[in-house]
Amino acid sequence: MKLESIALHQGYQSEATTKAAAVPIYQTTSFTFDDTQHGADLFDLKVQGNIYSRIMNPTNDVLEQRLAAMEGGIGALALASGMAAITYAIQCIAKVGDNILSTSQLYGGTYNLFAHTFPNQGIEVRMLNHDDFTGFERSIDAKTKAIFCESIGNPAGNVVALDRLAEIAERHGIPLIVDNTVATPYLCRPFEHGAHIVVQSLTKYIGGHGIAIGGAIIDSGKFDWQKHAERFPMLNQPDPSYHGVVYTQALGAAAYIGRCRVVPLRNTGAALSPQNAFYILQGLETLGLRMERHCSNALAVANFLRQHPKVDWVNYAALDDSPYLDNCQRLCGGQASGILSFGIQGGLAAGTRFIDALQMILRLVNIGDAKSLACHPASTTHRQLNDEELARAGVSRDLVRLSVGIEHIDDILADISQALDKA
Ligand SMILES: *Cc1c(COP(=O)(O)O)cnc(C)c1O
Repeated sequence: MKLESIALHQGYQSEATTKAAAVPIYQTTSFTFDDTQHGADLFDLKVQGNIYSRIMNPTNDVLEQRLAAMEGGIGALALASGMAAITYAIQCIAKVGDNILSTSQLYGGTYNLFAHTFPNQGIEVRMLNHDDFTGFERSIDAKTKAIFCESIGNPAGNVVALDRLAEIAERHGIPLIVDNTVATPYLCRPFEHGAHIVVQSLTKYIGGHGIAIGGAIIDSGKFDWQKHAERFPMLNQPDPSYHGVVYTQALGAAAYIGRCRVVPLRNTGAALSPQNAFYILQGLETLGLRMERHCSNALAVANFLRQHPKVDWVNYAALDDSPYLDNCQRLCGGQASGILSFGIQGGLAAGTRFIDALQMILRLVNIGDAKSLACHPASTTHRQLNDEELARAGVSRDLVRLSVGIEHIDDILADISQALDKA
């Protein structure tokens, strides 16, 4: 099936008892064992089946199968939030004394996780500019466990050369983890460009309606953990927290995504509720249609802003003068999702007046909603960052971020136009 059809059908057929056409919400904490042997086999990973909804749930399982198929992976793990997905994706392979490399153009929450939380837990994060390829190459050492980037940076809007980072990662025997939240698999499929693991905030375009927080890790199954056993002991040596299992032996190509489930998720518990999995599944069904409209509306807004006398600069990767256009065409089919940023003449003060004058476009700090949204990162998502950190994250003080929704383009432009008049 193609992506649009996968979004509607993958992983579910009318279930046998009730013939329900929609994916049921399995609102249950636990699942019964046929007998003690069945229970033992489930815990030994000898048979597949449900045990307890912190670790797996049939509603979540449909979402996981759909996301895995849409990204072209072999398995996925749905989690309580995008931040949980990023945290577990790294904790599954890195521990105290280890390090990862990351682009510095990051979502604010991820930046804080990498700049403060992980270092406090003994995992060093070496941040580099997204096109500093020699820097990436030079920063790798024996303790480096992953390279991390966002396919399209939020809010910087930079399209990262995934293929080049993947090539470096592959050559050094390290997985490339890509946050594909802004692009979604509809615009970019990182596994086709050599990435090994994808993380998603389902809260954004995948859910699409601004009603449920969720996240996911998707595994390509293509990284050879066994070949690099020395670098990845957590996947290749007996795990005392799971009665001595060796994940690469027990789960083969699914060793990584399996360990994400039975170690970080099982032991620290950022489980997605089946109710939220259901909401996210409803949104996912229309991902393709929404992304088409998000992209065409955002391009129209970018072109409108570009010719407006009160606008100093516009950053949108699909514009013909964008420094990211090449990457956007090579990796995202020339479409740049719904997020763009711009600066108003008059800087911080004018930007604030613009935001305050908006009538239809919502003032809030989310992206990927069907509704158009506006925010000022320097005073909200990125306010914990100092000037130097802001610069490294690609956020200037006059930067206004728009997440262009799927309303009629005339109404979006009318609201922006009147707000610019008042700015
Ligand atoms: C929002 C976002 C996250 C975090 O997701 P939550 O679901 O809010 O935890 C991570 N990465 C990117 C690019 C995001 O936009």
